[in-house]
Amino acid sequence: MRWRGGRQSSNVEERSGSSGRSIGKIASGGGIGVFLIAVVVFFLSGGDLGTVMDSLGGDITPATYETENVSSKEYTDEKEFAAVVFAHLEDYWNEEFDKRGQSYQNPKLVLFTDSVDSACGQASAQIGPFYCPADQNVYLDLSFANELSSSYGATGDYAMAYVIAHEVGHHVQNQLGITDQLNALRKRVSETEYNQYSVRLELQADYLAGCFSKYLAEQTYQGQPILEAGDIAEAITAANAIGDDTLQKEYQGYVVPDSFTHGTSQQRTSWFKRGYKYGDLEHGDTFNEKDLDLAA
Ligand SMILES: [Zn+2]
Repeated sequence: MRWRGGRQSSNVEERSGSSGRSIGKIASGGGIGVFLIAVVVFFLSGGDLGTVMDSLGGDITPATYETENVSSKEYTDEKEFAAVVFAHLEDYWNEEFDKRGQSYQNPKLVLFTDSVDSACGQASAQIGPFYCPADQNVYLDLSFANELSSSYGATGDYAMAYVIAHEVGHHVQNQLGITDQLNALRKRVSETEYNQYSVRLELQADYLAGCFSKYLAEQTYQGQPILEAGDIAEAITAANAIGDDTLQKEYQGYVVPDSFTHGTSQQRTSWFKRGYKYGDLEHGDTFNEKDLDLAA
């Protein structure tokens, strides 16, 4: 991806947090916790928000943030890259919502190292990137790009762009009211049933990342296409690497479909590709799709 020197989003903040509140233990489990966090956070901030916040002492005021230059000399490229991708996502989603006559509120990107406080609780870098609907921020651990290639074999800059676009996809779902609908549903259904809805929510975020990629494929920077050969393949490799079946096989040696929360590798790549093909919200209704494998 051609990103160096591109417009950087101004909705980016670096933060290092510390407080006693922790959601880290809920999402523990090492590598498998990565990407499960979005759902964990979703649970925390959704149907159970009151309960969770009560159990945290009723303190819903975010902890005092110490805004400082986190490892300012390090991660220079990661920071610039994330801010440029975020800027493209702002351009795209504002345009899409405009077309629909709806207004779009930009999310904020919070970059951190080690751990961070969010309105959804404290998170350690171990649990990976996540979106917190309660404060509408995307949280990104600066070391994650490295983790993505070393632990998941998803190399290349566009693998990381896909991850950021997926998290912003959750923000779009929040803006569209989908997140609220699912939170309401969660109170009425079993865990197994809810997991199936969660999979659909996640696959839709993959679809939205695909839509963004189609848009970006049509953009240029300094007269050159922004996407380079191999970029889309990098996103597909990443989506494949973080499918529930692949992660479960790797970390526990067997697969439990009832516990899937994000979809299989096949499903994640299929929905990303579908978004890349159509680039509109209309073809992304994962909730009414019978065949999530999109086999036909
Ligand atoms: Zn997600």
